Amino acid sequence: MSEEQRPVPIPDPGTAPYWEGTREHRLKLPKCEDCGKVHFYPRSVCPHCGSARLTWIEACGRGSVYSFTVVHRPPSPAFKPLVPYVVAVVTLDEGPHLMTRIGGCSTDDVRIGMPVQVAWEDIDSTATLPYFIPQ
Ligand code: ZN
Repeated sequence: MSEEQRPVPIPDPGTAPYWEGTREHRLKLPKCEDCGKVHFYPRSVCPHCGSARLTWIEACGRGSVYSFTVVHRPPSPAFKPLVPYVVAVVTLDEGPHLMTRIGGCSTDDVRIGMPVQVAWEDIDSTATLPYFIPQ
């Protein structure tokens, strides 16, 4: 049993819609109302055109592994029960990249280009994190 709690996200006004979505098990992404492009992480202006006219869409939750690494040494005692685990950058079907964890398979089974879909991990009563599993 870990004596240290896993860190939880601390939402701010710019990221609150994202974290509210994760608690509902919905992957929400910011979309620009001017150029129509989706981006991640949440920002106050569109990184493609500079517009501040942003809205939120619900992503389909599918993507593919862009890159990954296997973590064998926990970054803090709170992560000791998880090792070894995969930290990956996933290319979402909507376009943006999302850094996340891969679960639902052996660390040896993860491959670049592997199709994945979102799953949810309730860290505590206030925070839920997305992770991805093989499709
Ligand atoms: Zn834009």
